[in-house]
Amino acid sequence: MKLWTLCSITLRETVFKGYIVNTEPLRIGSGREPPFGSLVDLAVIRISIRDREVPYIPGSSLKGVFRSHTGNIVKSHGLEACSGLARGSCIDVKEVREEGVALRDLIERYMRENRSEEAMKIFFKNACLVCKIFGSSSYRGKVTFSDSYPLDENGNILPFKFGTRTGIAIDRRTGAVSRGALYTVEYVEPGCKFKFDIRADNLPNYALGLLSTLIKMVNSGEIKIGGFTSRGFGQVRIEDLEIYSKDSFKVAQGKVMHSLEEGVDEDLDVSNISEVKDGRLYFSKENAWKLIDLLEGVWNNAVEKLKGSEE
Ligand SMILES: [Zn+2]
Repeated sequence: MKLWTLCSITLRETVFKGYIVNTEPLRIGSGREPPFGSLVDLAVIRISIRDREVPYIPGSSLKGVFRSHTGNIVKSHGLEACSGLARGSCIDVKEVREEGVALRDLIERYMRENRSEEAMKIFFKNACLVCKIFGSSSYRGKVTFSDSYPLDENGNILPFKFGTRTGIAIDRRTGAVSRGALYTVEYVEPGCKFKFDIRADNLPNYALGLLSTLIKMVNSGEIKIGGFTSRGFGQVRIEDLEIYSKDSFKVAQGKVMHSLEEGVDEDLDVSNISEVKDGRLYFSKENAWKLIDLLEGVWNNAVEKLKGSEE
């Protein structure tokens, strides 16, 4: 049985936290019009903390980056992954064969009839792994990305600096310089530390392993964040990684992260790399990276088993 798909009970809570530090200029736009008279056409998104305007990384941006790369990885293994885009996610495009209706219609019908458990069951039976982890319209998913602010553990604002770069706007169609062609791009100078927090509820070890692969790719610079990534922007690394995890469905027998899906997932013995802190398994810095490697191994082992179950 797939324990983890029963959403109403908390089986496991896992938290990844630390700092995202940009090693290249970082640009996450606000998507809003620049203020009137502003010299900066493309301003960085910012938020007011204690009367100071500070840059931040919205959780939705991080989630978007993680989701799209997860889709690529899942597909590269020959497993199914939908686009995740509006109108392109499983709930939009799938049909439930036995019932001969669209997945969305069936889920909506169950929800109207207060049969939410059945709605969840049919979703998990039909959705791709990416939708199961990250959610879909009308299902919020099992991973939550908080906004990342330049704050230390005590809430003090960490140093940051905005920079600007002037570019020349090229007409995409003709390749010629367009009229009124200079624009200014704002970015956060390298070296800013953003405190991040990723929470996963009820994810089996192999799905945590898939997330771990992503975290490693972000840390190595393979995955960049924000805009202008093809122009030397957006590389980051991860510092001070810490992981907490707690299994609440089973009385812990030693330091083990238990399998949440028979036949696919594996028990993970973490006694050598964890300590118990506030009733949770705690992995600090080096040990957190060791856990990341162990979880990634579970994901790699799970790939073939998942292929078998898809056919
Ligand atoms: Zn999907």
